[in-house]
Amino acid sequence: MLGKIKGWFEDKCPVCDDKLQAVSNTACTTKSCPQGHYKEETYCTLGVTIVYDGLK
Ligand SMILES: [Zn+2]
Repeated sequence: MLGKIKGWFEDKCPVCDDKLQAVSNTACTTKSCPQGHYKEETYCTLGVTIVYDGLK
């Protein structure tokens, strides 16, 4: 299902194009660039996604 919507769900760093590392726990899912360019936190319980893309 998700494979069809490529681009939007692509977990890549917008800066270096590296694959984001995803870490999940009960409260949230964190996806981040291994080199620290980009970070995204999704809180399932709140239905909120916080994006940190200004980590330069
Ligand atoms: Zn990066």
